[in-house]
Amino acid sequence: MSRKIFIAGNWKMNTTLEEAVDLAKSVVQECKNRGDVEVAVCPPYVSLSAVAQVIKGSGVKLGAQDVHWEVSGAFTGKVSVAMLKSVGCEYVIIGHSEQRQYFGETDETVNKKVKAALAGGLKPIICVGELLSERENGFTEKVVEKQIVGAYKDLSKEDALKTVIAYEPVWAIGTGKTATPEQAEEVHLFIRKELEKLYDSDLSSKIIIQYGGSMNPKNAKELLAKENVDGGLIGGASLKGDQFKGVVIPQ
Ligand code: PEP
Repeated sequence: MSRKIFIAGNWKMNTTLEEAVDLAKSVVQECKNRGDVEVAVCPPYVSLSAVAQVIKGSGVKLGAQDVHWEVSGAFTGKVSVAMLKSVGCEYVIIGHSEQRQYFGETDETVNKKVKAALAGGLKPIICVGELLSERENGFTEKVVEKQIVGAYKDLSKEDALKTVIAYEPVWAIGTGKTATPEQAEEVHLFIRKELEKLYDSDLSSKIIIQYGGSMNPKNAKELLAKENVDGGLIGGASLKGDQFKGVVIPQ
């Protein structure tokens, strides 16, 4: 089964409006010879609209970093699926470890957001991954299984087929420590087996599973060479066009 490689840049809380526009221009320019690779950028909310204008016609897709599950109303500070659609988003990152760690994200809220995103026509990039202590105590599979089962609770196969998973070991995010290609492959394969248990082998063979955690131009080729690593969710290395290109078109 051949799955498309999908690289998404998570700009996190970086870039002013002007910087975001410049970075988007650089991504478009640097990644223009990416062949069949799907590329998305996920800027802060305030820059989504401007970045959408820059990437128009380039094939680079737009994603947001989070979304609220309610349709509208008194939810100060939150942004809805319809709002993200209206500025041109195709993807939305849900359940990032920073949301889980600092902002009270749980498997239940991830599930609500995933359902809302799909109902409104956004494709969720669902993040899962274990803490260092959980890996060291042998709980990686238990943790990832719980996150996957929670995220996909009551989701039809038809909807589940529109999702992307990002396996992001928390100990590798922003730390410069990358999972080895073997460590990544092991968990990606485990996730695929979980999906097969929840749905079937047809679905599990089709879902894109990105790796995230200090992926950069130096380690991208080796990671992407693994059979079950179908792309990357990139933080630090997505903030410079040439670095991002080094992951999208690894040498
Ligand atoms: C991320 O935040 O999704 C991420 C993978 O960050 P970094 O690449 O900086 O580790």
